[in-house]
Amino acid sequence: MELFELGIKQAQEGLAKGEFSSVELTQAIIDRYHAKNGEIGAYLTFDEEDALRLAKEADEVRGSAAGETHRGTGVPIAIKDLINVKGQPCTCASKILKGYVSPYDATVVKNLKANGFIPAGRVNMDEFAMGSSTENSALGVTRNPYDLTRVPGGSSGGSAAAVGGNLCIAALGTDTGGSIRQPASFCNCVGVKPSYGRVSRYGVTAFASSLDQVGPMTKSVEDAAILLKALAGHDEMDGTTPHDPVPDYVKALEGASLKGVKLGLAKEYLETAGMDPEVRRITDEAIKVCEAAGAELVEVSLPHTEYAMAVYYVIAPAEASANLSRFDGVRYGHRSELAKDVYSLYTKSRAEGFGPEVKRRIIMGTYVLSSGYYDAYYGKAQKVRTLIKRDFDQAFAKVDALLTPCAPTPAFKFGANQDPLTMYLNDLYTIPSALAGVCASSVPAGFTKDTNLPVGVQFICGGFKEEKLLKISKAFEEVRA
Ligand code: GLN
Repeated sequence: MELFELGIKQAQEGLAKGEFSSVELTQAIIDRYHAKNGEIGAYLTFDEEDALRLAKEADEVRGSAAGETHRGTGVPIAIKDLINVKGQPCTCASKILKGYVSPYDATVVKNLKANGFIPAGRVNMDEFAMGSSTENSALGVTRNPYDLTRVPGGSSGGSAAAVGGNLCIAALGTDTGGSIRQPASFCNCVGVKPSYGRVSRYGVTAFASSLDQVGPMTKSVEDAAILLKALAGHDEMDGTTPHDPVPDYVKALEGASLKGVKLGLAKEYLETAGMDPEVRRITDEAIKVCEAAGAELVEVSLPHTEYAMAVYYVIAPAEASANLSRFDGVRYGHRSELAKDVYSLYTKSRAEGFGPEVKRRIIMGTYVLSSGYYDAYYGKAQKVRTLIKRDFDQAFAKVDALLTPCAPTPAFKFGANQDPLTMYLNDLYTIPSALAGVCASSVPAGFTKDTNLPVGVQFICGGFKEEKLLKISKAFEEVRA
C-alpha cells in the first residue's frame, strides 16, 4: 500500500511504530498532489512548505514525548477552502475573496492541531458552499476520481474528490443541507454531518448559521470517529456549542453491531419519484443486509418531509443574504476599480466578486426577509421547520436510526443539472435532517451496475447521538455487500 492510500488510523499506527515519519507521509501526499491534482482538481492551493514544517515539528514532538498522546501525531488533513487557517488563503472558491489571507485559526483547526493533525492543502468547493456539484466554484473544476467526466458532488466536492482519489488521508467538509453527505456518496467516502452545535463554527465562513456544521470526510467510519472526536466540543467563541462532554467516539465503535438495532424506514424517503433505479437497488440491498445482520426494521413516517426543500430555500438564503453582506469591497478581498463613490464601491465589488448562484441566493434571501414578505415566507418557514423537527423527535422515540438513500442519483455529468431547481433536488434526502439539527452519515454502500459509480446510504440519528450513529455506520460498513 502506498502512503497516500492510508486512512487516519493506519497512518497513526505507522507513525507510532516508526514505520515512516510525518515528513515522509506529508511528502507522499504532496507528490500525489503533483501527480494527480492536474487531472482531479481537488485542491485549489497547497502550501507545501508550511505542511512540511508542521510535519517536521510533529516528528520532533513524537520523538521527544514519552506519553502515548503524541505517538500518532503528524497526519495531514485537507481543509475545505472556507475554514480559516492562519496564514493561508481562504477564498470560499469565490472571486470576492481572492487574495484574502486568514489572520487566525478556526476553532476546528486549533482542535486539529492540538490533536496532532496538520492542516495541509485547501480543497475546492461550490462558491460559499452553495451548490451540489462544485461547478459553482469560481476558481477551478473538480472531477470525480471514479469518472472524470462527472462531478464530485458538492459543496464539499474538493474534500470528497481528495479522499476518494487518495489525494489526502482525510478531509474536513461542511454541511448546511447535504454538502458533506452527497459528495461523500458520489466519491465513495464516509461523511458525517454532526448535530448542530456539536462542532464549533468559529472561523468557518458562514453560509446559513442555523444549519452549518463542519464534519469529517474519510476513508472509513473509524477514521470519521477519530476526526470527529478531535473536532467536537464546547467552544467559548461559538455560543451554539453546549458544554456536553464529547464521548469517546472511537471507543464507542468497539463491538459495533446491528443486532437489535431498530432501523426506521420512512416512505417519504424510500418511495420518492425521481430516485435513480440503481440508487433504489443499492438502498434496498443495504436494508436487506442490515436486516440479515440483526437489525429490526420499523416503518416510520415523517409527514412534513415534503416541505423541507421549500423551507430550506427560504431559511438558508435568508441567512446567507445577511451573512454575505460583510463582503462589501471594503473589509475583505476584491475591491472594484470602477467604483466612483461608496455606494458604487459596494455594488460594483459585489457584482464583480460574486458568482450567479450566490447572487441568486442573496436576492432570494433579501426578498423573503423584506418587510411585507417576512411573515409570509421567513416566519412561515420557521414554523414549518419546527414541524419537521418534531417529525424526527417522534421517529426517534420509536427507532435508533433512519436508513435512507443519501442522494437521488449517483454522480452526474458536468452540466447535467443546469437548471437550479433540478440541482437543488440533489439534497432531497439530506435537507430535512439538517433543518432538524440532528446528526447523519453517508456510508459507501455499493456501485452502480453499468456505470460503476459509488453510491452511499444515509443513516440519521437524533441530536447529539453521534456515538450511536457511528456505531451503526461502522456495523453497516462491516457487513455491507
Ligand atoms: N446543495 C445545498 C445548497 O446548495 C447544500 C449546500 C451545503 O450543504 N453547503 O444549498
